[in-house]
Amino acid sequence: MSIPYAEVIGDPIAQSKSPLIHGFWLEALGLKGDYRRAHVKPDALADYVAERREDPDWRGCNVTMPHKAAIMDLVDDPGDIRGSIGAMNTVVRQRDGALIGTNTDAAGFYAPLAELDLEGAPVVVVGAGGAARAVLFALARAGVGPVTILNRSPLKAMGLLATFGLKGEVVALDATLPPAALLVNASSLGMKGQPPLDLDLSHLPDDAIVYDLVYSPLTTGLLAAAESRGLDTVDGLDMLIGQAALAFELFFGKAPPEGRDEELRALLTA
Ligand code: NAP
Repeated sequence: MSIPYAEVIGDPIAQSKSPLIHGFWLEALGLKGDYRRAHVKPDALADYVAERREDPDWRGCNVTMPHKAAIMDLVDDPGDIRGSIGAMNTVVRQRDGALIGTNTDAAGFYAPLAELDLEGAPVVVVGAGGAARAVLFALARAGVGPVTILNRSPLKAMGLLATFGLKGEVVALDATLPPAALLVNASSLGMKGQPPLDLDLSHLPDDAIVYDLVYSPLTTGLLAAAESRGLDTVDGLDMLIGQAALAFELFFGKAPPEGRDEELRALLTA
């Protein structure tokens, strides 16, 4: 009996939490389906795609490091991803075998902020890597005001402001923060095994929101500092779950169950 399935591919892949998330939703909805990990090395990526596209049970895959750029050349329809976010994290197989590529990170990042009016609001983003690209793409779409990027490599960050048509400036990691409405950590700083992100949050207004994409640990030093200042916070699991939810619907044709996020979060942090 054939079972529809999707996968997450990367090298390494053992660390991925995606099978846990998709598996939880499949079970909660009682859907016939599977979501697996596939260890795909860079030199095997083209063969993997060629083989899977022939399999009608394969609904597609999530794509993680180091394939997010290379996969753009292997799908039939990459949309406008190459000229915008510049990284693909989801491939969906159509019934005729055609492969459509997309990126759900930007929408996943923005989902917890969707109720806010960020138009014209000053924002701070730490980092200028792949995650920062998705964040800046979403923030540009939301029409935010000046963006201050803090990054170790300033040139890279300046390039991102230009790419996304954002007004703002690039400053060093130890610069004094402007009074921003939203501060996002999209760097690896604060992640387990990485140096901490030490920012002085005293210049942020009392209604500022601090959002950390890092989810290991879940309560980073940055979020702890924001909470002790009484600021609202968003942790990295919100984005992780948000980007997965969009992919799940593309793979299995149904939205994840509502009202089960706390249970899922408990599973992910157990
Ligand atoms: P990346 O492309 O490798 O970028 C890493 C960023 O961190 C760069 O800006 C880099 O600065 C900076 N950085 C790294 N080590 C540093 C150090 N020792 N000192 C100063 N800056 C340093 O990684 P990414 O894919 O953007 O991921 C960044 C973080 O976001 C990771 O912790 C990842 O787990 C998290 N993330 C979370 C989600 C989610 O769903 N919650 C999704 C994607 C990513 P340079 O530019 O100077 O190299």
